[in-house]
Amino acid sequence: MNRRGWMRVGLGTAGALAIAGRVRGDGPPDDSDPAPLVQGMLAATAKTPIEVKPLVDGIHLVQGPGGNIAVLDGPDGLTVVDAGLPHRAAETLDAVKRAGGKPIARLIDTHWHFDHAGGNEAFARAGATILATAATRRRLAEDQYTEVFKMKSPASPPAALPVVTLDEAELHAGPETLRLMSVPPAHTDGDLVVHFTKHDVIHTGDLYSNGFYPNIDSSSLGWIGGMVAAADRLLKLTGPSTRIIPGHGPVATREDLARYRAMLATVHDRLARLHDAGKTLREAIDARPTADLDPTWAHGFFTGGMFTRIAYDGLVKHRTSAGK
Ligand SMILES: [Zn+2]
Repeated sequence: MNRRGWMRVGLGTAGALAIAGRVRGDGPPDDSDPAPLVQGMLAATAKTPIEVKPLVDGIHLVQGPGGNIAVLDGPDGLTVVDAGLPHRAAETLDAVKRAGGKPIARLIDTHWHFDHAGGNEAFARAGATILATAATRRRLAEDQYTEVFKMKSPASPPAALPVVTLDEAELHAGPETLRLMSVPPAHTDGDLVVHFTKHDVIHTGDLYSNGFYPNIDSSSLGWIGGMVAAADRLLKLTGPSTRIIPGHGPVATREDLARYRAMLATVHDRLARLHDAGKTLREAIDARPTADLDPTWAHGFFTGGMFTRIAYDGLVKHRTSAGK
């Protein structure tokens, strides 16, 4: 999906949410609560098309209502990064097969979220060996509860679980060498970056949402300081021609990623100062620390209030657990 498409989805859902708040007649809607938005996502994305596009020679991009998917065509079959939404798994699998026309040798999960690992079981049944970090496997294997979204994710069936866990690896697929790198907790505690070194392509998972405020999963130990550090790590891997596949949004350049990193660092520093001043979550949201950034970043999925809630919650949890 292109950026305009993403903006349309985001605006449409946020708009519906604002109207729902007014119709209920219970005062101005709290536009900082992302739970209804996320809970409505499965229904809202039931019919979003899944598109297959060539990215560079040998790599296709599959874009639809879930996270972005990369497909490398190699001599021993396809190597796929991320597997899309659970209720669209059959169509996602078809799209991936269209991209390569070969058996799927392996699937790499960038993290455990349902819009990235939701197709795991279908891919495994199609013959893929699933690779991920140990933290991703553990979270998939157990029931999860995402506090800010008030969302339960039941444990995945055994067939959906990664069979290889790793923190760092080099994977050789014909002429391509993929570098797989975990990072300290950022979006979750199991994020994996996939660098197609010969093709100069990076799949960032949800360490990067191109063009709008990202999700940061504090219930999985994610936090905005980790997101800044991860963006720095990603930037070090990039050159002027690198194609960056974000978890969500259009394919990006190094400059796009640098702008995103600067936004995250600014928000981090402002939230850290609010926390230093002893502000509660409500006070931090009401201080509107992202007001000047919202015109650029808030028209994707989350409002500035939602992003402040998500990021402040994670920062406070991180600082509390670190004893700061
Ligand atoms: Zn995610």
